[in-house]
Amino acid sequence: MKIGVLSLQGGVIEHLNHIRNLEADCIEVKEAEDLDEINGIILPGGESTTMGLLLKERGILNPLKQKILNGLPAWGTCAGMILLAKEIENDFRKHLEVMNIKVKRNAYGSQLDSFICHSKVEKVSKEEIPLIFIRAPYIVEVGNDVDVIFEIDGKVVAAREKNMLATSFHPELSTSLEFHKYFLNMCTENLKKLN
Ligand code: GLN
Repeated sequence: MKIGVLSLQGGVIEHLNHIRNLEADCIEVKEAEDLDEINGIILPGGESTTMGLLLKERGILNPLKQKILNGLPAWGTCAGMILLAKEIENDFRKHLEVMNIKVKRNAYGSQLDSFICHSKVEKVSKEEIPLIFIRAPYIVEVGNDVDVIFEIDGKVVAAREKNMLATSFHPELSTSLEFHKYFLNMCTENLKKLN
């Protein structure tokens, strides 16, 4: 199994390291052709506007969108979640528009309002996981087919819709591998279905 990490901008290396620590293969996705090699893709944190522009410029946006719509497992962390969303409350831009969620960018305020908390996310792991929020979005509306994975103070910060996972926070910046294990599991399950 091979996992791709979208490598146009943002926090790429931390995701690659976490996936490698779980002994799975991974590659940096920089061109549309890279998509043909992978069994799952991580869209990292960074700046959704910049990543969205680069996705278009490099001709990756549409092929990636089609792959995800055809079932390729995709996990967006923070800006990656914004890329997946069908709607963005406070931005006129839209990017991949594949996941049935409406998100709010920079929902907790500025960089100074970044924070960390520790929680058990029952649907993902029995362990307590550090949740790191950096100029994070949260989900303001979920569609019928979206399963809420975690909420903080009534705000949805992790959700899943079929082959798509979105988290407001950054598991790759903590030492916990639990979310990466969960995503690898999604990819393994999908591969089994295809074979
Ligand atoms: N604020 C960024 C955006 O809107 C996301 C921040 C992040 O990925 N840490 O794209």
